[in-house]
Amino acid sequence: MMDKVNTEMENIDIVKDVLVIGGGLVGLQTAKAIADRGYPVLLAEAGGRTGVNAESLPLTGADVEQLNAMTEEAQASGIEILNNTQLAGAAGMPGDFKVWLADEDEVAEKQVGAIVVAGEVKVKPLNTPFGLDLTSTVISQTQLESRLVAEADAFAGKTVAFVVGLAQPGNPLNMERVFRSALTLAQTKECSVYIYVGDLKVASDQMERLYMETRNQGVLYFKLKEAPAISQSNGALSIRYADPVIRKDVELEPDLIVVEEAIEANPGNAELAEMLRIDLSPSGFIQTDNVHRYPVATNRAGIFVVGAGREVKHLNGAFMDAENAALEISELLGDGTKTVSTGTTLDAGKCTFCLTCYRCCPHGAIYWEDESNTIISPVACQKCGICASECPMDAIQIEQFSDAEVKEQIKTSVAQESKVSKIVAFCCQNSAVEAGQMAQEFKMKLPQGLQIVQVPCAGKVDLDYILTAFVEGADGVLVLTCHNGNCKSERGNLFAQWRVTEAQRMLAEIGMDAQKLRFASLAANMGSDFASIVNEMAETLKENK
Ligand code: SF4
Ligand code: SF4
Repeated sequence: MMDKVNTEMENIDIVKDVLVIGGGLVGLQTAKAIADRGYPVLLAEAGGRTGVNAESLPLTGADVEQLNAMTEEAQASGIEILNNTQLAGAAGMPGDFKVWLADEDEVAEKQVGAIVVAGEVKVKPLNTPFGLDLTSTVISQTQLESRLVAEADAFAGKTVAFVVGLAQPGNPLNMERVFRSALTLAQTKECSVYIYVGDLKVASDQMERLYMETRNQGVLYFKLKEAPAISQSNGALSIRYADPVIRKDVELEPDLIVVEEAIEANPGNAELAEMLRIDLSPSGFIQTDNVHRYPVATNRAGIFVVGAGREVKHLNGAFMDAENAALEISELLGDGTKTVSTGTTLDAGKCTFCLTCYRCCPHGAIYWEDESNTIISPVACQKCGICASECPMDAIQIEQFSDAEVKEQIKTSVAQESKVSKIVAFCCQNSAVEAGQMAQEFKMKLPQGLQIVQVPCAGKVDLDYILTAFVEGADGVLVLTCHNGNCKSERGNLFAQWRVTEAQRMLAEIGMDAQKLRFASLAANMGSDFASIVNEMAETLKENK
């Protein structure tokens, strides 16, 4: 394995201002947490006031009071609140982003060091799965919550039925909203409240307590395996289900039916993600399903996501995100200067400005100036080496892992005469290297001819390295990467897999056994799997000798 050497460092100035996109409760809390750490904050809210977008999760009366208090507090802490303002574009790197903010009249350019997306979710009433139209007597959970604030007395003495967890899997956030509304109706408006529920999720102290409070207030639950038959004819409502205990149909004729809502990622996330060059999850939230991104990081350094922008979550959890984002930002921006490594170099003389590196960098660390000058940001670059291995001109080199250094290590690994098969295992330092160390520490049997070549990310394993290993005398080659979704550089393992497939095709073309080259994924704690993979390769080589 390579010895660590000192990396060259330099000091750079960075901008301390922070942009928070989204002025809901979580956006306000995040802006305040960042301002409390001494950073100037710009808060851009697309709506007419800090608060909640009409399509997002609604607020109860108490939340509105909280929101007003928080807005005043935010203004008092010097946060610049820009209402009716949306992100129109972004460029640059952590510590030096340029953002364009558009309001009704103009587009203003600002410079910020970090960006936080405090997104909202979108809610969609689930009336159609039950064949219902939304009317004055069939309403959504959001409509109920608004009416409980605006005209609560209109509900006095009514029979109200909730239908929840039947058109979609149970969701604690929806369940909590139902519990709170049911309590208000039963406690203060003397309503008869019935809850038809499929998947009842109460797995927390608070939810258990709320559930018990509703029971104590006389709310009745019907736990069903499938949706009841609901009819809505000339304003008359009926809910019927077959009760398996008393073995007959049970019918209710409520005054009001409240349907739950699907909570989805905001459709605006896609546009925002494109502008900021950040990846979305498969369900449209602004954070990939990657353990290295939790809790608030995105694939780009300097851009963070909190609350509903990254997943459907409860307000307490979202407020914890706000604190985490503030902490990450203070680590990134510090006192306005930063010491960075200059370990990734780009040879402008070799560069043909093809922008392959710009397209493949998973961290958005590459940009250009004057349409001819490719630049790697030392703040954003994670030194994974994907760009270096994809560059057709070999113009990019990673300190400690330059092409010359890695090839030299390959040569040295296979140079000695050996009676046993020589196996070169290219190992990602985030997973396979540690798995290999574990196998050694636990004294697992490993092949004598095994040589580990450490790489910063499997995405650094160049096709040329694999072929060099065979040319220099390796009998077998392994490329060992992180599992999908665990790669620190999102797609480094996929780049490695494509290159292995290509190398196997080339080996087959010249009549070599493609089994001499194998790709596998591991986690850092999979020492015994590491041992199995390398021993299997040794067995294969022995059988085919
Ligand atoms: S991939 Fe290589 S040649 Fe292409 S722009 Fe990047 S550094 Fe230049
Ligand atoms: S080394 Fe990785 S993070 Fe750095 S510029 Fe290249 S691809 Fe991006």
